[in-house]
Amino acid sequence: MGGNSPCASCKLLRRRCAKDCIFAPYFPSDDPHKFAIVHKVFGASNVSKMLQELPIHQRADAVSSLVYEANARVRDPVYGCVGAISYLQNQVSQLQMQLAVAQAEILCIQMQNEPVVMMPTPQMDDLDDAKSSSSFVFQNNHPQYLNFASSSNVIHDSLKRESIFGDIIS
Ligand SMILES: [Zn+2]
Repeated sequence: MGGNSPCASCKLLRRRCAKDCIFAPYFPSDDPHKFAIVHKVFGASNVSKMLQELPIHQRADAVSSLVYEANARVRDPVYGCVGAISYLQNQVSQLQMQLAVAQAEILCIQMQNEPVVMMPTPQMDDLDDAKSSSSFVFQNNHPQYLNFASSSNVIHDSLKRESIFGDIIS
C-alpha cells in the first residue's frame, strides 16, 4: 500500500483518508485506540469541528487533552477528569495544612529553645530540657496532625471547589 494507508480515524469510520484529512496528523494508523476513545466520548464530527476552530499550532495540544479527558471519562463515568482534579486539589490543601502544622511546630520548638538566657541553669540541664520538651511535642504531634488533615474545613473546601468545576462544565 505504501504511504497511502488511512489514518486511524478514517480506518474506524471506513472512509477514504483525504490528503488534507484533519485527523491524519494526530491519529496515526498505528494507534487506533487513541481515536476510538475520543470518538466514543466526543463523537468524530464534534472532534473535527473542535479542531477546525483552532489554529494548526494548537491542534496537537487539543488532541492530547481530548484523549486525556476521554480516557478519564471512561475510567470514571461520573466525575471524569474532574475527579482527578479535585483529588489533587484535596491533596494540595492537605499538604498545605501539614506544612502549616510543621511550621507552627518549628516555631514552637524555636521558642522553647530560646529562653536559655532567662534560665541561668547549667548547660547540661538545658540540653535535657530541650530534649524532653521536643519529644513531648512530637508525641503530641500525631493526633493533632490527624485532626487537622481530616478537619471538616478540608472537606468543605473541596466540595466548594467541586461545585465551582460543576458550574464551569455545565
Ligand atoms: Zn484520515
